[in-house]
Amino acid sequence: MSEQAKIDLNFDKNHIWHPYTSMKDPLPVYPVVSANGVKLKLENGQELIDGMSSWWCAVHGYNHPVLNRAVENQLKNMSHVMFGGITHQPAVDLAKLLVDITPPSLEKVFYCDSGSVAVEVAMKMALQYRFATKNFKKNKFLSIRSGYHGDTFNAMSVCDPVTGMHEIFSGVLPINFFVEAPSCKFHDAWKDESFVPMLEMLKKHHEELTAIIVEPIVQGAGGMRFYHPEYLNKLRYYCDKYDILLIFDEIATGFGRTGKMFACEHTNIEPDIMTVGKAITGGYMSFAATLTNLKVSEGISNGTPGNFMHGPTFMGNPMACAVGIASVSLLLSDNWQEKVMRIERILQQELQAAIDFEKVADVRILGAIGVIEMKEAVDLASLQKSFVEKGIWVRPFGKNVYLMPPFIISDEDLNFLCKQLISIVKTI
Ligand SMILES: *Cc1c(COP(=O)(O)O)cnc(C)c1O
Repeated sequence: MSEQAKIDLNFDKNHIWHPYTSMKDPLPVYPVVSANGVKLKLENGQELIDGMSSWWCAVHGYNHPVLNRAVENQLKNMSHVMFGGITHQPAVDLAKLLVDITPPSLEKVFYCDSGSVAVEVAMKMALQYRFATKNFKKNKFLSIRSGYHGDTFNAMSVCDPVTGMHEIFSGVLPINFFVEAPSCKFHDAWKDESFVPMLEMLKKHHEELTAIIVEPIVQGAGGMRFYHPEYLNKLRYYCDKYDILLIFDEIATGFGRTGKMFACEHTNIEPDIMTVGKAITGGYMSFAATLTNLKVSEGISNGTPGNFMHGPTFMGNPMACAVGIASVSLLLSDNWQEKVMRIERILQQELQAAIDFEKVADVRILGAIGVIEMKEAVDLASLQKSFVEKGIWVRPFGKNVYLMPPFIISDEDLNFLCKQLISIVKTI
């Protein structure tokens, strides 16, 4: 290829919507021409160390030879074929892997094209399960505050009602129930009282509830909070008692990020339905899956119509399955846990100092996630610019400035990332 054409930023600004932006006066976007390892290369040649894994996805970094090869090989075979009436090796092999590494009771796999769709599918399963037994009263969902489950309508209806989009869409969103976020933090000693608000809600509304949906252990985009595993053990107990399904949204937490392959492994229990996405393809392609147990799958299948009523055009896309197999296999063969623990240690060493800064409210680290929570929401535009000038890619959200780097990051790059981050946060 000859000289790289300049990316037309003016056209971008005038015609292309970016996530959560205005079309009128959007914040600047940075033109990236390539990404390799843990580095994003800007059009001007500058390289940035990636602290975001492209929103939890790129656990193996960018341009990974093993993942590239998986895509190239699959491309030569077939890039896509409909999943209605057809199956293929990549779909079968990935499902085998997923059934193998997720909790034992989760045996049935539904492939989706994005995380939000996986959440829609999970919620639809929980409803169709009730309809199948003519139980129309249990048709609501319960969630905890500070959660995030995606941007489609049912997913939005269980996102935090304040930081989420309830205000804008109130009146058209399905009405669901919310309990305050668990007060007992991950590293604290368990306190029974932190389950009281949930218990009260369950006692009052269990007859209307088909399912509870939560992000286990780590609440991601809704607040970057880490809560106690015992909360989930208790939740399972009461879900059984009151005949409520338990849905774990592991789209952000799955595939090693919290120090366990899935965050539910911090607990003693298994959900009835689990969504996975984001890192499933190592960040190569949009893809996700919803897994469930025999109770739910047979419940739906024994009812009328018996068929589960969902089937996206790109369901089970072979390219996504192929790179998914490569990414999950690479993770399994690659001492992922050691890598995540090493990242946790360095994040602890480097970020903890920020707790003494005047504007910092809290610093918390779990697995390969480091969060600096400020007392007030940050100025995204100016902060983003400062980070880029310092050679790092970090995108704060609300009050939270956080890191979740690719697992392959070297000690040296991670130290650099943390030090540059701290030097900026200090000036806020
Ligand atoms: C990102 C995310 C989603 C939505 O996934 P998309 O692929 O963006 O649709 C759902 N749940 C959680 C926990 C997430 O982090």
